[in-house]
Amino acid sequence: MLELEHVVKHYRGAGEEVRAVDGVSLRLAAGERLALHGPSGSGKTTLLLLVAALLAPDSGSIRFQGRDLGRLSTGEAADYLHRDVGFVYQSPQLMARVPALENAALKLVLGGMGAGAAQERVRPWLSRVGLDGSLRRTPEQLSAGERQRVAIARALAGEPALVLADEPTGTLDSARSHEIVRLLHDYARDRAAAVLLVTHDLEAAAIADRRCTLRDGRLVDGHPRRHTQSGEGHDTDRDDHDAGRDSQSAGRDGQGAGGVIRSSARAGGRDGRD
Ligand code: ADP
Ligand code: MG
Repeated sequence: MLELEHVVKHYRGAGEEVRAVDGVSLRLAAGERLALHGPSGSGKTTLLLLVAALLAPDSGSIRFQGRDLGRLSTGEAADYLHRDVGFVYQSPQLMARVPALENAALKLVLGGMGAGAAQERVRPWLSRVGLDGSLRRTPEQLSAGERQRVAIARALAGEPALVLADEPTGTLDSARSHEIVRLLHDYARDRAAAVLLVTHDLEAAAIADRRCTLRDGRLVDGHPRRHTQSGEGHDTDRDDHDAGRDSQSAGRDGQGAGGVIRSSARAGGRDGRD
């Protein structure tokens, strides 16, 4: 379903070149769940943006259902992002002053569905993420975790074949986190969808068929879970130490701006979680 061949993406700013993604090859089959982890700055978000066709690689190819994303027209790339991909961004990217129901429905509306039909479609998803009582609340009336759950409902409601989730449980307490991880698991199973899940959360990673680690833009392992169960956790232990460094990149990720995900919460504190 998804094939990456030696994908490279370097950022060239005023200063030094950053080798954000540096020759990544991987395959993801329909119904497969891959958990990706790695320290802050290792290229996880960049990799998801490339797979969503929101960034173009410098070299290498990304194929989705046999189609080379690099050959899509702008319109086709937009259709791919709207129809085939459900993206749960690292910060929820909701419209300010728009209630949760309309916010979650917006992606379907932009994809051409009528507003009423789109809202009926997202309602059960908002219910599945536990937001039945919050449909009329705007982002500023929701907690960070609730905002993230609106974004998850928005991503899944269109029933995408590929779910890209960038630390979707980062602002959730462990019970909610468990529910969301289950939801992603069941979603992949029931719809034969592929899920690429960036996570520091051991439990979230445990729903995956495979776990990979990204380090300095390179995939350093990618073993099936059945081969790693005896050593479960050793990679992630390392990540927990790295999580504290997220504060350095929080501003660039846009998390600082809305206070949507607090780096202290991701570093292990409970403050700010709902
Ligand atoms: P992660 O999600 O693993 O924290 P990112 O993909 O956000 O990693 O970033 C990978 C590297 O690329 C980091 O060194 C980061 O600072 C850099 N980077 C990310 N986005 C940009 C950008 N738009 N411009 C310049 N450098 C960037
Ligand atoms: Mg990131």
